[in-house]
Amino acid sequence: MALVNCPECGKQVSDSAPTCPHCGYQLIDDEPVKYAQPKKFKLSFRGKVGIILGIVIVIIMINYCGDDSSGGGNKTKYYDGLDAYLEAQSFVKKHLKSPSTADFPYYNKVENNVKYLGTNKYKIESWVDSQNSFGATIRTKFSCTIIFVGDKVRCEELVFDE
Ligand SMILES: [Zn+2]
Repeated sequence: MALVNCPECGKQVSDSAPTCPHCGYQLIDDEPVKYAQPKKFKLSFRGKVGIILGIVIVIIMINYCGDDSSGGGNKTKYYDGLDAYLEAQSFVKKHLKSPSTADFPYYNKVENNVKYLGTNKYKIESWVDSQNSFGATIRTKFSCTIIFVGDKVRCEELVFDE
């Protein structure tokens, strides 16, 4: 039989006594509560850790899905007239005698000549100054139809008006 201190009056009492003989404090009824509290805390703590881990995993999965959807978003990228004009310039350069000398007007100068034909299709009418095979700079007008299909760009029609 061991002696414990009464939590109420602090005096030593037998641990098998149902009540404190000094102050009448209920010792037996109190004991299961004292043991039950830490157990409940441990269970709820584990539960919280489990929930937090679950949330973290869900967040990670959502982020992966988000990356996938943003990758899909790139495939349906919105193109504007400037994109089409820049693509047209690269197609025009391929047909020039000296592409390095190509000098295109700024987009704001030809913006009115860039027509949207629908479904990511643009018709551009512009000009380019470049050197011919004799080293003379000449101005060449061109008309070009650019189509954006997914990530790819197609030049449907390229007409030089010399
Ligand atoms: Zn007592």
